[in-house]
Amino acid sequence: MSLHLYNSLTRRLEPFAPIDPACPTMYVCGPTVYNYVHIGNARGPVVFGVLADLLRRRFGALKYARNITDVDDKINAAARDQGVAISTITDRFAAAYRADMAALGIAPPDIEPAATAHIGEIVAMIERLIDSGHAYAAQGHVLFAVGSFDGYGKLSRRDTDDMIAGARIEVAPYKRDPGDFVLWKPSTDDLPGWESPWGVGRPGWHIECSAMAAAHLGETIDIHAGGVDLQFPHHENEIAQSECAHGGAPFAKVWLHNGMLTFAGSKMSKSVGNIERVHDLVRTHAPEALRYALLSAHYRQPLDWSDALIEQSVRTLDRLYGTLRDLADVEAEARIPDSIERALDEDLNTPAALAEVARIAGEARKATDASARATLKSELLGAGLALGLLQQPPADWFARGASDDDDARIQTLIDERIAAKQARDFARADAIRDQLAAEQIVLEDTPQGVRWKRG
Ligand SMILES: [Zn+2]
Repeated sequence: MSLHLYNSLTRRLEPFAPIDPACPTMYVCGPTVYNYVHIGNARGPVVFGVLADLLRRRFGALKYARNITDVDDKINAAARDQGVAISTITDRFAAAYRADMAALGIAPPDIEPAATAHIGEIVAMIERLIDSGHAYAAQGHVLFAVGSFDGYGKLSRRDTDDMIAGARIEVAPYKRDPGDFVLWKPSTDDLPGWESPWGVGRPGWHIECSAMAAAHLGETIDIHAGGVDLQFPHHENEIAQSECAHGGAPFAKVWLHNGMLTFAGSKMSKSVGNIERVHDLVRTHAPEALRYALLSAHYRQPLDWSDALIEQSVRTLDRLYGTLRDLADVEAEARIPDSIERALDEDLNTPAALAEVARIAGEARKATDASARATLKSELLGAGLALGLLQQPPADWFARGASDDDDARIQTLIDERIAAKQARDFARADAIRDQLAAEQIVLEDTPQGVRWKRG
């Protein structure tokens, strides 16, 4: 068996051969923590999490880093709007992100570096870029000079004019070339800032990934992954920074990009954000069905997200867990079938793997012979294991949404509404109130706190 991955850099399906066969390295661009993440932002972590498990099976080890962007102008704006410290925003939403990813069955990465914990590495990398003639300081900013790097555009394969138009790059007086991008920018007193050779300031977004990937995974990494929306300018700029800072050493051997979610077929109410946010979705739907839905299309294709897709995923899991329930009398341990490994080896062909899961379950339903039933149960559990599915007891799957769970879910929403009000996030507090009202949950303020009952 050999894993083949579609490399966005070469536009080819290639056999995967890590630099160190004893421990491949992988970097995935993580969230900017100023709000709850969109379900589209979970697609990469789900798919690349399946890849992480596969790499660990094949090579025995993996170093997987997924960063947290905790310094950003969107974070600054959210902190200002809500009248709280920046760390109040980033701590809250980093914790929410971890909880939401865990709810979708995504194991945490080995390393979760945060930008604010790597300012020293970022400043050192910028200094190297200035010293080697790839960057310049101007008016408290430091800019990367795109004209200094012949390889600029090799990932997105755009010419310079297209890149500038595509990124709606602002023409600023401190830029020598409109395509030059910010590595460091000055901070006023009301903004987070760190001492640097260019005055008090903060890093640009792109440089943090280059600095953190080098700090934790080395100058050349095996796999760099993220959404296709990051290919330009973010990933193009990461390549430019890293390769220029490291004397031309390739930044990443393989680039993987997942396609976007579309919402054309959706009728779900957008007013309470039910359709979009993982935080809401995992409270209103079986999280495992959301995971199944995210794996139902090949990761490089767009995926149309809708009620119908989620409902269909629930029905499929009902059937699969029903099969496992019928096999309750059979002792079997999970064993991942070769057919699943082969499907995943073909550039993570999860639709083919899910079709194989359905085939195995179909065989299991027909089997009468004890040894065949045992083999098929172990294959079904193993197939699920490779995809992060079918690992709970069937009784738990069928008991989902039972009253205890639902009470806990409602209490969680009430607690979150109180926290949102304390953080002066009134839009969120109102959205929760509306959602509870739509479910006919009546809230009462009492001296002991907020009580609720069904209306
Ligand atoms: Zn990144």
